[in-house]
This record gives sequence, structure tokens and C-alpha cells, in this order.
Amino acid sequence: MIQLYIPLNFLGVIYREIKQSLTDLDKMFVLMEKEREVRDAPGAQPLAGADSTVRFEDVSFAYEPDRPILKHVSFEIPAGKTVAVVGPSGSGKSTLARLLYRFYDVQQGRITIGGEDIRAVQQASVRRAIGIVPQDTVLFNDTVEYNIAYGRPGATREEVEGAARAARIHDFIAATPKGYETTVGERGLKLSGGEKQRVAIARTLLKNPPIVIFDEATSALDSANERAIQSELRSAAQGKTTLVIAHRLSTVVEAHEILVLESGVIVERGTHADLLAQQGRYAQMWALQKSEAVPML
Ligand code: ATP
Repeated sequence: MIQLYIPLNFLGVIYREIKQSLTDLDKMFVLMEKEREVRDAPGAQPLAGADSTVRFEDVSFAYEPDRPILKHVSFEIPAGKTVAVVGPSGSGKSTLARLLYRFYDVQQGRITIGGEDIRAVQQASVRRAIGIVPQDTVLFNDTVEYNIAYGRPGATREEVEGAARAARIHDFIAATPKGYETTVGERGLKLSGGEKQRVAIARTLLKNPPIVIFDEATSALDSANERAIQSELRSAAQGKTTLVIAHRLSTVVEAHEILVLESGVIVERGTHADLLAQQGRYAQMWALQKSEAVPML
């Protein structure tokens, strides 16, 4: 019984992580392997967290030997600022987010939060400091309240409602017959992509972490919905140290810095105005998206 319990418990932990993560369920087994590698160093202390500045210092990373995904990536997100990453599919954008959340350890260089190497501190404390709004939020077959409160277990109904209001999902929930008791997920009420994202935003608002990662949906929401979500995302990012994996220009325009990633290398960087002036890859993407009114990547 004990033998059975341990793996099941282990699976439960992994499952929770995946639910909140940027990964797909089919990567579960890869993650399980990795999870064993990403262990706290003996005597690791929690992240001090006095400062939420994020730094990637000469980071290189490969999931499989001989197939480098990130190559010598360096950037800083000053506390409270936003850095946006753009680039073609497969260029390594989500990998940056997975490394910051410490699903994997970097093979070269280091990632720091407030100057502390995230490999040297308790993994759980790193994850407490970070909120993720993933591309596709997976909901539990449980109540809306449970799904939102997952951001901060033990939150009161008032707190859940407050977060739902700020994420502009409260009216939708209140209009269902059972309100916050409505079961959602595969076996309950199905939510649209935009509604699910709002639940994820509400979770993040409730968690109120100093660092936020937004992995923007690639799938097209209709443009009115898209604009509305952008404004909720912006308010969730207010004052937070934010990494945005961006597919739409509207998100990146105000970023402190935009990184253009290609095959794991930062090929251009700067503000929106800097990059337009450079007339390089970013300027091309901008022109293309404006003319075609399609997602950038
Ligand atoms: P998209 O814009 O399509 O989301 P991305 O720029 O975020 O793409 P990543 O998800 O970071 O790209 O993936 C970068 C590369 O790493 C891809 O070639 C992908 O196939 C590979 N990759 C991602 N996850 C794994 C994994 N668990 N094991 C092996 N390779 C992986």
C-alpha cells in the first residue's frame, strides 16, 4: 500500500504542476523524468524575494543532447517591468517560461530572481513567486470557485468573486443557475477559450505573485474579445515583473524591451520604436501583421 501511495502521490504533484503549467499532458512523462532531476539542493532556503528582478545570464538549454534550443540568451526584466518575446513557432519562447518556472534546469548560464540563482533555492518558493496565464488553461472538473481559488487555496468567496470581477468573468458566472457552484471542465460547463483565459487571469490575480508569465493564445479569439482580454491582462500585470510570450503586436508595443528570438538566439532587441527604426525582422513582422491583420506568428 505504501509503495502504491508514493508513486500516486508523486503523480498528483506532477499533475498539479502540469495543470498550471505551459505544457501539454502528453509531455507528462518527459516532465516526470525531469522532475526527478530538478530537485532542491540540500539545505536550500526559500527565495528571499526582496526584489523580483529576473535575469537570464548567458542561458543555453537543450531538451535532448545535440539539439540546442536556447543559445547564450541574456536579458533582464527589471522589477515591475514587462519584457515581451516574439519569434517564429519553435524558436524557444515557451522554453524561456518553462525554465523560469524551473521545470528544467539550465545547462549553461543561470537564471536569477532578485540576484538569487533559482537552482539554489527551494523550487516551491520559486513557483509561489510566479503566476502563469497559459495559452490553454486546463480546468478541473470541479466548481468555478474551486478553479479560481486554486490560485490561492483557502481564499474566501469574497476574494474569489473580487478576482473574478477584476478578470471580467463574474457576470458570466453569476448568470449561470448555480453561480460559483457550477461545475466546469470536460464533464461540466464548457467554457470558451476566452472564458478559460479569464479564469486563469482570476487565479493569477488571487495568487498575486510578484512575477507573472503570459503565454498568449495563438488561436484567434475574435478581435473584440481579444482586445478585452488584453486590457485584463494589462491590469493583472500592473506593477508585476512580467514575461510575455507574444503573438500579437498590441501586447508588445508598451513593453520595456522586446526580444526577437529565432532558433534560440536573440537576433534583435529593443523597444517597439527602436525595433521599427532598425527596419529588421521585427519591422517586417509589424508591417505584415498590419497589412494582413493576422496574428504576428
Ligand atoms: P510556439 O510559438 O509554437 O509556442 P515556441 O517558440 O514557444 O513555439 P518552444 O515550445 O519553446 O517553442 O519549443 C522550442 C523547441 O523545443 C521546439 O522545436 C520543440 O519541439 C522543442 N521542445 C519543446 N518541448 C520539448 C520537450 N519536452 N522535449 C523535447 N523537445 C521539446
